[in-house]
Amino acid sequence: MSVASILKGKGRGVIAENAETLLVNICKVLGDKKIGAILITDPDGRIEGIISERDVVKAVGQQGSSALDLPVGQVMTKSVITCTEGDSVNSVMSKMSEGRFRHVPVVDQDQVAVGVISIGDVVKHKIAQVELEAEQMRSYISTP
Ligand code: AMP
Repeated sequence: MSVASILKGKGRGVIAENAETLLVNICKVLGDKKIGAILITDPDGRIEGIISERDVVKAVGQQGSSALDLPVGQVMTKSVITCTEGDSVNSVMSKMSEGRFRHVPVVDQDQVAVGVISIGDVVKHKIAQVELEAEQMRSYISTP
């Protein structure tokens, strides 16, 4: 199963901000959209960084509430691991596990962000796969 099959189910598209956006406004988007991470992109949609709720907690923990006035470009992770639509879901799981993060942006051939796969998407996909296999097994066993 590929990343494309997950995007087909959840839809393409990304929630992105620019590097000048203040952390307090990033928090608002995270809360309003009920998401755990936001991509930081240039005007062409290419990824410059990623900011997750963990980064916000870390920044506030270290600097106090004044961190919320920082531009997100000073807080985000700049070295972002990505995948493409042709990658397998298992390879995305490996990236998440090795990098200890829960979001992997999907990029096209021009490195433009076209989606984000979260660990929740992967788990949902895996559960559906296991249920399908169980159903196939039940049907195989009950066939006379
Ligand atoms: P998360 O588990 O996604 O909340 O992220 C945990 C940490 O990893 C945070 O510092 C994120 O900025 C960072 N992070 C999240 N996704 C990625 C990614 N795809 N590549 C590199 N770092 C990431």
